[in-house]
Amino acid sequence: MRVLLLGGTSEARELAALLVAKSVEVTSSLAGRVTRPRLPVGAVRIGGFGGVPGLRAALADYDLVVDATHPFAEGMSANAEAACRAERVPLLRLERPGWEPMPQWRYVEGHEEAARLAADLGRRPFLTVGRQELGRFLPSLRERPVLARMVERPDLSLPHGWTLVTSRGPYLLADEMRLMRDHAIDVLVTKDSGGSYTWPKLEAAAILGVAVIVVRRPAAPAGLAVVHTAQDASAWVRAQSRCRCLPNAELSE
Ligand code: NAP
Repeated sequence: MRVLLLGGTSEARELAALLVAKSVEVTSSLAGRVTRPRLPVGAVRIGGFGGVPGLRAALADYDLVVDATHPFAEGMSANAEAACRAERVPLLRLERPGWEPMPQWRYVEGHEEAARLAADLGRRPFLTVGRQELGRFLPSLRERPVLARMVERPDLSLPHGWTLVTSRGPYLLADEMRLMRDHAIDVLVTKDSGGSYTWPKLEAAAILGVAVIVVRRPAAPAGLAVVHTAQDASAWVRAQSRCRCLPNAELSE
């Protein structure tokens, strides 16, 4: 059973470790967005496939696909669904749950709406939305003293009044509180990424009384098998392997 694991997340690395430990042949795929990615154990390939046609061609080398990309990696998930459907390759979505909402959080449908609301709710925003989304905040927040945090520097040039912090989670509550206090942050913008790595900023915001704006997740492709933990995904892969190994007579029993 050859598994293609679409990754770039902590759950994908966890799943790769579980599958390698069970001697499953797994190849993790990374987009190649960051210069020093955290690498999973096992085989790794890096870079896009070339849209749905490229992914369909690549699927000739695999029996199963697990899409464990980030909840906001909408394009890759849509391509995986289309390519696997066309090639009749079983596909599982491994997606960490969103955060349990706090009553004071404000949810928005997109980044432009988040930018406008941030301009209304506070004077000193803290943007934690990733570098690919930053440009969408410029029209509303260009003149504000924004603190923007991301893994690597963005390609676009930022306004003079903006402060850039490059770092990668997991983060600690005490550090998040210090950062927000040092920059007198009064509004935090985040995607509903879920997980524990970046949760402390939300705890810090609650303690400091900082307003929170949460960008809702894009809708997942309909009709997919979905699990929320690497353990469940590993069990699915092994169940698929067993199905394929059993002779037809045993399967029909
Ligand atoms: P995206 O917009 O959904 O994908 C755009 C294109 O990047 C895809 O069509 C594909 O190119 C390529 N790609 C994306 N993920 C890939 C993967 N795992 N392996 C090979 N190619 C991939 O993706 P994104 O939001 O930029 O995210 C890129 C990567 O960063 C993903 O692996 C994701 O798990 C990780 N990540 C994303 C976020 C986020 O907030 N979006 C946060 C943390 C980590 P082709 O069409 O050429 O195949």
